[in-house]
Amino acid sequence: MEQKQLDAARSRLEAEKEAVDKQLLDHGVQLEGDENISLDQHEGFADSAQATAERSQEITIVEQMRVRRSDILAALAKIDQGTYGKCESCGNEIPPERLEAVPAATLCMSCKQQSG
Ligand SMILES: [Zn+2]
Repeated sequence: MEQKQLDAARSRLEAEKEAVDKQLLDHGVQLEGDENISLDQHEGFADSAQATAERSQEITIVEQMRVRRSDILAALAKIDQGTYGKCESCGNEIPPERLEAVPAATLCMSCKQQSG
Protein backbone atom coordinates (compact mmCIF):
# COMPACT_ATOMS: atom_id res chain seq x y z
CA MET A 1 0.00 0.00 0.00
CA GLU A 2 1.27 3.46 -0.90
CA GLN A 3 2.25 5.96 1.78
CA LYS A 4 -0.36 8.36 0.41
CA GLN A 5 -3.09 5.77 0.96
CA LEU A 6 -1.78 4.98 4.43
CA ASP A 7 -1.81 8.65 5.37
CA ALA A 8 -5.38 8.96 4.10
CA ALA A 9 -6.41 5.85 6.05
CA ARG A 10 -4.77 7.18 9.20
CA SER A 11 -6.61 10.51 8.99
CA ARG A 12 -9.90 8.72 8.41
CA LEU A 13 -9.30 6.41 11.38
CA GLU A 14 -8.25 9.26 13.65
CA ALA A 15 -11.32 11.26 12.68
CA GLU A 16 -13.50 8.23 13.32
CA LYS A 17 -11.87 7.61 16.70
CA GLU A 18 -12.50 11.21 17.69
CA ALA A 19 -16.15 10.88 16.68
CA VAL A 20 -16.52 7.66 18.71
CA ASP A 21 -14.76 9.23 21.71
CA LYS A 22 -17.13 12.15 21.56
CA GLN A 23 -20.19 9.89 21.37
CA LEU A 24 -18.94 7.88 24.32
CA LEU A 25 -18.48 11.07 26.31
CA ASP A 26 -21.99 12.15 25.32
CA HIS A 27 -23.16 8.89 26.88
CA GLY A 28 -21.29 9.77 30.04
CA VAL A 29 -18.64 7.11 29.56
CA GLN A 30 -15.24 7.79 31.00
CA LEU A 31 -12.29 6.57 29.00
CA GLU A 32 -9.63 4.90 31.06
CA GLY A 33 -6.49 4.46 29.08
CA ASP A 34 -7.01 3.24 25.56
CA GLU A 35 -9.03 0.08 26.05
CA ASN A 36 -10.99 0.15 29.29
CA ILE A 37 -14.22 2.02 29.47
CA SER A 38 -16.12 2.22 32.70
CA LEU A 39 -19.89 1.91 32.81
CA ASP A 40 -19.98 2.91 36.49
CA GLN A 41 -21.36 6.28 35.45
CA HIS A 42 -24.64 4.57 34.69
CA GLU A 43 -25.24 3.37 38.25
CA GLY A 44 -27.32 6.53 38.84
CA PHE A 45 -30.27 5.27 36.76
CA ALA A 46 -33.51 5.02 38.72
CA ASP A 47 -34.69 1.50 39.37
CA SER A 48 -37.80 1.44 37.19
CA ALA A 49 -38.71 -0.75 34.24
CA GLN A 50 -38.22 2.11 31.82
CA ALA A 51 -34.89 3.05 33.29
CA THR A 52 -33.81 -0.58 33.01
CA ALA A 53 -34.80 -0.66 29.34
CA GLU A 54 -33.03 2.62 28.70
CA ARG A 55 -30.03 1.40 30.54
CA SER A 56 -29.77 -1.81 28.59
CA GLN A 57 -30.17 0.09 25.31
CA GLU A 58 -27.50 2.49 26.48
CA ILE A 59 -25.13 -0.34 27.31
CA THR A 60 -25.73 -1.90 23.88
CA ILE A 61 -24.90 1.38 22.14
CA VAL A 62 -21.86 1.94 24.31
CA GLU A 63 -20.70 -1.63 23.78
CA GLN A 64 -20.97 -1.24 19.99
CA MET A 65 -18.98 1.97 20.13
CA ARG A 66 -16.42 0.34 22.39
CA VAL A 67 -15.94 -2.50 19.89
CA ARG A 68 -15.70 0.00 17.04
CA ARG A 69 -13.15 2.02 18.97
CA SER A 70 -10.95 -1.00 19.60
CA ASP A 71 -11.18 -1.92 15.88
CA ILE A 72 -10.02 1.59 15.04
CA LEU A 73 -7.14 1.39 17.53
CA ALA A 74 -6.13 -1.99 16.10
CA ALA A 75 -6.15 -0.55 12.57
CA LEU A 76 -4.02 2.42 13.67
CA ALA A 77 -1.56 0.02 15.31
CA LYS A 78 -1.36 -1.90 12.03
CA ILE A 79 -0.50 1.27 10.15
CA ASP A 80 2.38 1.75 12.60
CA GLN A 81 3.48 -1.86 12.14
CA GLY A 82 3.17 -1.70 8.37
CA THR A 83 0.58 -4.48 8.18
CA TYR A 84 -2.44 -2.28 7.50
CA GLY A 85 -4.62 -3.28 4.56
CA LYS A 86 -3.76 -6.99 4.65
CA CYS A 87 -6.52 -9.53 5.21
CA GLU A 88 -6.04 -11.23 8.58
CA SER A 89 -7.35 -14.50 7.22
CA CYS A 90 -5.84 -15.04 3.76
CA GLY A 91 -3.08 -12.39 3.83
CA ASN A 92 -4.16 -10.81 0.56
CA GLU A 93 -4.42 -7.07 0.25
CA ILE A 94 -7.84 -5.69 1.10
CA PRO A 95 -9.13 -3.67 -1.89
CA PRO A 96 -8.70 0.11 -1.34
CA GLU A 97 -12.41 0.69 -2.04
CA ARG A 98 -13.27 -1.53 0.89
CA LEU A 99 -10.79 0.21 3.17
CA GLU A 100 -12.24 3.53 2.13
CA ALA A 101 -15.72 2.35 3.10
CA VAL A 102 -14.56 0.52 6.23
CA PRO A 103 -11.16 1.87 7.31
CA ALA A 104 -10.95 -0.58 10.22
CA ALA A 105 -11.68 -3.65 8.08
CA THR A 106 -9.49 -6.64 8.95
CA LEU A 107 -10.80 -9.10 6.35
CA CYS A 108 -11.19 -8.97 2.59
CA MET A 109 -14.73 -9.36 1.26
CA SER A 110 -14.49 -13.06 0.47
CA CYS A 111 -13.07 -13.97 3.93
CA LYS A 112 -15.64 -11.71 5.54
CA GLN A 113 -18.41 -13.55 3.71
CA GLN A 114 -16.99 -16.91 4.73
CA SER A 115 -16.73 -15.90 8.36
CA GLY A 116 -20.38 -14.86 8.21
ZN1 LIG B 1 -9.04 -12.67 2.90
